[in-house]
Amino acid sequence: MTARAIPDKYTHRYPDDLDTVIAAVASDEGLSGASPEVRRYELALQVFFKAKIAIAVSSGAAAISTALFAAGVGAGDEVILAPTPPLCTVFPVLAERAIPVFADTAPDHWGADPVSVAKMLTPKTKAIIDTLMWGYPAPVDEMYDFAKANRIPYILDLAHAHGTTLHGESIADFCDLACYSTHDRKPLSTGEGGFVLVADETVADAARAYTRFGNLDGETFGQNYKLNGVAAALGRSRLKYLAAKIETRRENAARLLAAIRHPNVRESDVIPGGQPNYYAVLLRLDFGLPAQNRAFIDYLSAAGIPSDITRYGCRPLYESPTLAAFCRPCPNAEALLSSTTTLPVHPDVTADDIDYMAEVINAYPG
Ligand SMILES: *Cc1c(COP(=O)(O)O)cnc(C)c1O
Repeated sequence: MTARAIPDKYTHRYPDDLDTVIAAVASDEGLSGASPEVRRYELALQVFFKAKIAIAVSSGAAAISTALFAAGVGAGDEVILAPTPPLCTVFPVLAERAIPVFADTAPDHWGADPVSVAKMLTPKTKAIIDTLMWGYPAPVDEMYDFAKANRIPYILDLAHAHGTTLHGESIADFCDLACYSTHDRKPLSTGEGGFVLVADETVADAARAYTRFGNLDGETFGQNYKLNGVAAALGRSRLKYLAAKIETRRENAARLLAAIRHPNVRESDVIPGGQPNYYAVLLRLDFGLPAQNRAFIDYLSAAGIPSDITRYGCRPLYESPTLAAFCRPCPNAEALLSSTTTLPVHPDVTADDIDYMAEVINAYPG
């Protein structure tokens, strides 16, 4: 077993990238967010995700801010979410001057738990956000029903989850507004970028207006969150490869999971009817105390196997100084965070890499 360094992210490179960028720059359409190329990209997104309306924006964070605004969230309103996502999910809540209210997860998956959410509802609750961590599905169908019954907009942060399905349908079908990132680390990359999928035309109009200064009519507030023309051209071109790249992730995950045989390591539960896109493989660790799980993650890191847990801390959001004022301990979420790690299975990971990762894991003396 020779040590190696498994790359922690996929390097996006596609045969027609250069021609696409050159054609965009050479065209007479201009490169602003108002260029027809952005509209063509949005139409391609609608087809790929079988969505009614797609709105391209400049980042995943912009997508979440836009969704919150379009959902009617404003100053002093409350937005319920689990404390498990990265800071990128919750800072847009603060940017919209709303109050993040932390609800616990269920013990075994990353969605907010409806029982915990129900306890946190107040007349000021104006949205619920769920984040599909590493592309693993959560029971968003149940949460969507709950949200509808309480007339609260339900927003999904699908920055990791391009291609994730539930009951055979796109996970984005189970919410009012679906937010995606196309940052360079994500399954579809435009460098920086994102988009919002929405079915309701009135909500979509509000979302689109928000991304262009409220259409500059001075009646409604807005920001400039438009995606530029070069990024849109690249996105439309790269969308052609996305389904195959997700398939490769799934194949890599299947090979890796079939080879892992360690009594204290298993795949995180996949809910019935759900299919992850395998943005990463999620492992549940059972070595005892959090420090013992952490020792296993450090062992993998030392062997050149990277983990998102070491990359961004993966502590409950309310432990961050910027969010301490909203602290509300969530024991299930804390247990999840301290017993989870990720393994890379992106398309740059080779069969040899996969066999190596399984060997290293199986050799751990836990
Ligand atoms: C990347 C990410 C975001 C933010 O996307 P940007 O395009 O970087 O702004 C939001 N939520 C999650 C879960 C992410 O992984």
